[in-house]
Amino acid sequence: SDELLIKSEKLSVVGQLAAGVAHEIRNPLTSLKGFVQLLKSKVNDYDHYFDIMLSELDRINFIVSEFLVIAKPQAVKFQVKDTASILLSTVALVNTQAIMQNVEITTRLNEPLPSVLCDENQIKQVFINVLNNSIEAMPDGGVIVIEVFAKNGNIVFLFTDQGVGIPEERIPRLGEPFYTTKEKGTGLGLMVSYKIIENHHGRMSITSELGRGTTVEVSLPIAQPEP
Ligand code: ADP
Ligand code: MG
Repeated sequence: SDELLIKSEKLSVVGQLAAGVAHEIRNPLTSLKGFVQLLKSKVNDYDHYFDIMLSELDRINFIVSEFLVIAKPQAVKFQVKDTASILLSTVALVNTQAIMQNVEITTRLNEPLPSVLCDENQIKQVFINVLNNSIEAMPDGGVIVIEVFAKNGNIVFLFTDQGVGIPEERIPRLGEPFYTTKEKGTGLGLMVSYKIIENHHGRMSITSELGRGTTVEVSLPIAQPEP
């Protein structure tokens, strides 16, 4: 649709920017962190301030890493992968965090599922971003239902939460760089996810009802068997 097209144009500008800047930031960051750690071990006072500096440095590093996903498309490796195991291993990764937040993740796999041609780590990153958003949208806990099925040559993943939801007028802003409503958010998770799914020739869309919950739909083309 038009909207997806506009979003991807926005992304390529950010991608070019990231490619130039990310590496330049990373090296001085590493040396800064080393010297802060050194100072912390030499100076008896101000431990609290050093810890703040270290965690802020980690935060910058995290943001730069998110950008590198866009800046390094040549590192992407597409392989035929088992759909169910990608999803289940990602759920296993996130599940500890979910349980601590009183969130139950229910997965409904309609097997047998066709394989998907993808960069496994990138798709896992998309799923993690989506699941983290759902967990963060349910501060008092709740259920996330994941449904997976094949439809019209695609594998469709539906992630539905019972969270706070998103006001209708904000839906078009999702995926804009730095768009966040969270105090500690980066507003990069969805942007990176849209970019990854676009690189996979898939689609991602979000529907939501305020106060009821949100559904994120990710669809990826089924891997074609070698002729
Ligand atoms: P961040 O999580 O760092 O804020 P994201 O790009 O992951 O950045 O998400 C951007 C914004 O989209 C969030 O701040 C939130 O307002 C909204 N959002 C995304 N997923 C959900 C969800 N499942 N429920 C409610 N709001 C969501
Ligand atoms: Mg997020």
